[in-house]
Order: sequence, then structure tokens, then C-alpha cells
Amino acid sequence: MEKVKTRFAPSPTGYLHVGGARTALFSWLYARHCGGTFVLRIEDTDRERSTQPAIDAILESMEWLHLNWDEGPYYQTKRFDRYKEVIDQLIKEGKAYKCYCSKERLDQVREEQKAKGLKPRYDGHCRDDHSEHSPDEPYVVRFRNPDTGVVAFDDMVKGHIEFQNSELDDFIIQRSDGTPTYNFCVVVDDYDMGITHVIRGDDHVNNTPRQINLYHALGAKEPVFGHVAMILGDDGNKLSKRHGAVSVMQYREDGYLPEALVNYLVRLGWSHGDQEIFTVQEMIDYFTPEQINKSASSFNTKKLEWLNAHYMKTLPRAEVAQELKWHLGRLGIDTDKVAGPNLELVVKNYCERTHTLKEMAEKARCYFEDIQGYDPAGVKKWIKEGSVAILEDSLKVLQAIPEDQWQPEVIDKALEGVAAQHEVGMGKVGQPLRLAMTGTPTSPGIGDTMELVGRERTFKRISDAIAAFSAKA
Ligand code: GLU
Repeated sequence: MEKVKTRFAPSPTGYLHVGGARTALFSWLYARHCGGTFVLRIEDTDRERSTQPAIDAILESMEWLHLNWDEGPYYQTKRFDRYKEVIDQLIKEGKAYKCYCSKERLDQVREEQKAKGLKPRYDGHCRDDHSEHSPDEPYVVRFRNPDTGVVAFDDMVKGHIEFQNSELDDFIIQRSDGTPTYNFCVVVDDYDMGITHVIRGDDHVNNTPRQINLYHALGAKEPVFGHVAMILGDDGNKLSKRHGAVSVMQYREDGYLPEALVNYLVRLGWSHGDQEIFTVQEMIDYFTPEQINKSASSFNTKKLEWLNAHYMKTLPRAEVAQELKWHLGRLGIDTDKVAGPNLELVVKNYCERTHTLKEMAEKARCYFEDIQGYDPAGVKKWIKEGSVAILEDSLKVLQAIPEDQWQPEVIDKALEGVAAQHEVGMGKVGQPLRLAMTGTPTSPGIGDTMELVGRERTFKRISDAIAAFSAKA
């Protein structure tokens, strides 16, 4: 069997959005499922709309999602010589021709066709034009599309699709400024790169018959196509910025794990029984394009949140910690430079208490930098007469714990002694201490919190709190 080769071919006119990421994922999974090759190609021929920041964002998003490519990234702008060569060849063979029609003429033809109730299309005026033209007269190059017959293909997702050639006109393959067009470049590239399967958005279905005719004109066999239906927002409209985040990197900034987003995207339009949670290996093992839904799928943020919570709890802590490090970096905390707890310990304590990595980083910043004052409601509720004495006695017993025994169980036990001594419940000891440690009355168990803060810093924070709350009292 021929070796499968798929590709993802984004146009770098903006960030990578979830629809594009899902297309990339499906192409990647199919290549991996078949033991094939996955190519990344940047379709940047539209020089006005393509930008370097968009290219960077696409590459960054693909890397973050772990969608590694085996070849590329190829850039269409680096292949102009090759396109020119093929266009010249097509012209020589009479399969393409120069069209000198002016905009005015084309507008007039369109108006006449509309008036007759016909679908506007190029009328083939220059097909057999052999008149002389001056070298500076502007022209485009058009592909000579067959006049009759049917173009048919068996789409991996949508099934059999047919178009009448009489419906298609001679489309432009080279603009008047000499640049080649998308429908042309995509065919030359997929052909040259040996792409066997094209998985892409179904907004390209109408381009496919044109592209197939072009393959045939090049004496090539077309790849197998699979057109994936679009993604809708929760309200049934096409997914757009209005629905919140749509760019992959925005999801990262919002604190989602790449594993959660990938798992979410694979289920958005593809299923394997009623399984919801897939490891990457399971996705690769089970993925076939035939199981992609024919109809559009709706984005469901709640489900993504649920998957994120799942992966925060179940992924190896080192992996979650890696992502947490990135989020702390965004808060201005470089964990390689500032003193603080081991990140895996933070993950252990917070993976069940927070829903996103962004939230985890915000909660954890107090372990890396000084606390910014005390939560007034917390102070009002928990700092009472006697609290300062409790803090002072806590400090004494904690200072008696040696460095090598600075562990949650030992700390908790010592503080239980303080509660007993003052004849109060643990809340009256733990809450003022939480305020001292984090500035807020919510944190993991007090022993765990102090382990995160660290021994010396714990003493300093209790002393600071004693000073602050004594002044208040
Ligand atoms: N560059 C095209 C786009 O971003 C994709 C072309 C294709 O997959 O054939 O829509």
C-alpha cells in the first residue's frame, strides 16, 4: 500500500484558531495512525494578508499542542520559480492561457449574465485569442477547464460528491501582478510533496473539482479528500471571537492544558463509541476519517473545562508543572531565579483546588513573592482577641521543628498542640495562620501550606502578621 502522507496548510493571515487546530489534529492523527508522514506548509502567497507574527503564532500553537511535523514548514513564497515553471508548461500545452479581458469587460459580461438569470462566470473570451498584445498589456493566466463531463470524488467524510464541468469556469491561476493563486499552488504543492490524503475544512469543497481538473491537466492522480464540517459556537452560529477564546494561544493563556484542548478537539466532530477521554496513543490507534461527523459540531466550553480539570489531576505532575511555570512567568515570576517551592508540590496541592493553570499560578504566586497585604474580610472574620497569642505560640512550636522534619504531618501535629493549649478548635489556629501565610483564609491544609511557604519564610510571615495584627488590636 502507498505510504500515507498528509499535510496541514494554513494561510498565515491570523492566529491559529480552534477550527484550524482541529483540521491539523485530524491530519496529524491520520498520518500517525497509518505510520505515514505529516507535512506543515505555510500558504503565504497572499503577501498582503500574510504576516510573520501569524506564522510565528501558528508554529507556536502547533508546538504547544505537540502536533509535530515530519517535513516542513514549507513556504509557498519560496516556491515561486516552480509555480512559474508549471504555468509556462500549461500555457505551452494549451491547458492554460493568457486572458487580457479588462475589468470593465468582465463587469459587463457579469451584468449581462445576471440579467439573463445565469450564474456569473468567465465566458472564455480569451481562450482562443491569438491576436498580438503589447508586452506591457496586463493579463492574468486562466486554466482551461474541461467544458463537459463530470468531476466526481469520494470524500472520506462526506461520501460521493459530483460537479458538472459546465458549472465551473476557467479560473485564474496567475494574477495580473504575476503571483499564482491558491487553487493552483495547492495542487502543485500537494502533487510535488506527494500528499496522498487532504483533510481540510469543508469551506474548500467547491474548490476541489477545480483542483482535480488541474491535477489531471498535470497528468497526476488527485489525492483522497476529506472535508470536515465547521465548528459552531454554543448558540449555533459559526464559531467566532464573540464566543470567547477562539485562538489556540488564547486557550493557553486562559490556563488550559494542551492535552485537554487536543482531547476536546478530537471529540469535536469525531467519535469512538461513547468514549470521551483519550490518551494521545488511543487517539492515534482509533482514528479513522470515516468516523468524522458529516454535520457541524458545536463548541462546548463546559466540556473543555471538565477535561481540563481531569488532565490537571491525572497527568504526570512534571508535565503540569511545566505549564504552571509558563503561567508564573506571565505573572513576572521566573521560577529559575526566585526562591520558592518545587512546582510539582504546588501542582500536587492545587490540582484539585483550581480549574485552570492560570488560576493555579495566581493562587501560587504567594509562595514565590511577598504577599500583598491581608484580605480584609478574612481579617475581620478570623482575627479576634487571642489570635495574636495563638500566632505567637504557633511560632514558638514551629521554630522547634528542625529543618529536616519540616513536613505537613509534623507541622499539623505541632499546631494541634497549640489549639489544645488554647482550648480552641483547629480553625481558630489554622485560619489566622493561613492569613499570615497567603494573605487569604483559603489555602491547602495548614501543614501543606507551610511546606509550600518554606520554614524560614513561615517564621518571617508569622512575625509580620503578629506585628500587623497587634497594631490593629
Ligand atoms: N490555506 C488554506 C486555508 O488556510 C487551506 C488549503 C487546503 O487545506 O487545501 O484555508
